[in-house]
Amino acid sequence: MAQFLQHCRHWVFDMDGTLTNAVHDFQHIRQQLAIPPEADILGYLDSLPPAQARAAHQWLLEHERTLAQQSTAAPGAVALVKYLHERGDRLAILTRNARELAQVTLQAIGLQHCFAPADILGRDEAAPKPAPDGMLHIARNWQVCSSQLCMVGDFHFDLRSARNAGARAVLVNLPDNPWPRLTDHHAPDCHALLASLSGSSPH
Ligand SMILES: [Mg+2]
Repeated sequence: MAQFLQHCRHWVFDMDGTLTNAVHDFQHIRQQLAIPPEADILGYLDSLPPAQARAAHQWLLEHERTLAQQSTAAPGAVALVKYLHERGDRLAILTRNARELAQVTLQAIGLQHCFAPADILGRDEAAPKPAPDGMLHIARNWQVCSSQLCMVGDFHFDLRSARNAGARAVLVNLPDNPWPRLTDHHAPDCHALLASLSGSSPH
């Protein structure tokens, strides 16, 4: 196991696709909001005239609220988060989703008690990943150096936000690692990551 994992006590989790099974239908969102296929969704919405941007954000929030209420946990995610919470590690969420919806999602998968509200950062609390802002904000909240943080995510935005903040990056929920240069550790899922941390075999 990568040695830093044994020492890490400050964890930042991506939410969608990391703690939950990915349900975002980005193609549906793009169609409904007439967003070009190559554009970043949040970036595109922010480039619209204010009234149009507000309406689009409102639609997106309602769409995401319905999805959040139906969230299911990714394999091993609940056991991993509970293990870290019970041993007293600091835990945060950094998501491009809205904070309010992150809380709905955490409740749906039974993990809301593991994250303090101030440690849940959505798209309105910090510049979205891959910017380092959210990671740096969390490090400041916890009064630790950002190099002590470990991000757990399923996408290169997560890994890049960690890199940009000087933090560690763990990739989960992909069978192979397409971004080895952005990754300090790769686990096929949260079961495997928990097994590495707790020193037991995954099955
Ligand atoms: Mg994700």
